[in-house]
Amino acid sequence: MNALSPGGRIGILGGGQLGRMLALAAAPLGYSCHIFGPEAAPPAGRVADRVTIADYHDEAALAAFADDIHVVTLEFENVPADCLEFLAERRPVRPSAPALATAQDRLVEKDFAASIGAATAPYRAVASLAELESVMAHIGPRAVLKTRRLGYDGKGQIIMDRSTGLNEAWQALKGAPSILEGFVPFDLEVSVVVARGLDGAIRAYPPIANRHKNHILDTSTVPAGLNPVQTNRAMTIAADLAAALDYVGVLAVELFVLGDNLLVNEFAPRVHNSGHWTIEGAVTSQFEQHIRAICGLPLGGVDLLGRVEMTNLIGDDVERLPALLVEPGAHVHLYGKSEVRPGRKMGHVTRVFPGLETS
Ligand code: AMP
Repeated sequence: MNALSPGGRIGILGGGQLGRMLALAAAPLGYSCHIFGPEAAPPAGRVADRVTIADYHDEAALAAFADDIHVVTLEFENVPADCLEFLAERRPVRPSAPALATAQDRLVEKDFAASIGAATAPYRAVASLAELESVMAHIGPRAVLKTRRLGYDGKGQIIMDRSTGLNEAWQALKGAPSILEGFVPFDLEVSVVVARGLDGAIRAYPPIANRHKNHILDTSTVPAGLNPVQTNRAMTIAADLAAALDYVGVLAVELFVLGDNLLVNEFAPRVHNSGHWTIEGAVTSQFEQHIRAICGLPLGGVDLLGRVEMTNLIGDDVERLPALLVEPGAHVHLYGKSEVRPGRKMGHVTRVFPGLETS
């Protein structure tokens, strides 16, 4: 296996908090980072060696970026396909462009999960209002309409029931190609953060229980409180997806738990908010694990160091900072965003309760 030697430089597409935590994890392994993205003053830029602020279609900037780095990764999955192809001709892109393309489109993603035998909510593609009407008749009345591309944190999706006007729903999503999914009355939402190395080795962290507020992740808790059958199913699905995608790096698989059935909701081809607890709560953080994978190093251990809870600091939650700083054992992470906005992820706090039952 061709490992990147210490001193090598990693290119990261996207400059948000995930890129910031990746750059912080790359440093102890001897690597430096170059952040590339269109946004001014990226949070990751403050902790990286180099920053290029340019559009993902700017070929001159991309060529200079490629010349400066040894391997490309990303913290933002909606990087345009032509940007990835351009870079892939010059440097290894990990995870690969085809793996990213699969995760960028909810229909392709669900088809892929189904193709490896993973269960999902019932779903159908919807490309017109007429199609929405006929698909609702099969999948509704309780359903979720989601745009195929670019949705996150509940954006680009509408929960449907008998009272929802189909025309209004279709207009609200601006007639974008979509999928309609049956509404899953889940017991719990979990995610599995799994890593696959350049040599094909796979390590999955234990399942994480996730609770949302206003469609945004609020807390992640580990252990998730699943029974052994559920735990085993969740981890097997995540490992199977990583292998089938020929994936390199960290992949986050979101699942609905419905009794002993585990349904794949979606997967994110990157480090994930629900895995932030691994910084203090696991032997190896998801960020270090991702850097290890894309640089061709052996993967690190994934054991828990206790019972762990991660809480996001969203918008005004950062005002809790003084209290958090005096709380023994509260690990505070701020993302260096100057402007506080409602719904904006400003940071997170992790609490590890060592010595407690961890399974
Ligand atoms: P997503 O963007 O697909 O992760 O969806 C955001 C959130 O909406 C999920 O975390 C669930 O809480 C909820 N949700 C999405 N799809 C469904 C579904 N088919 N049934 C029930 N809840 C859903």
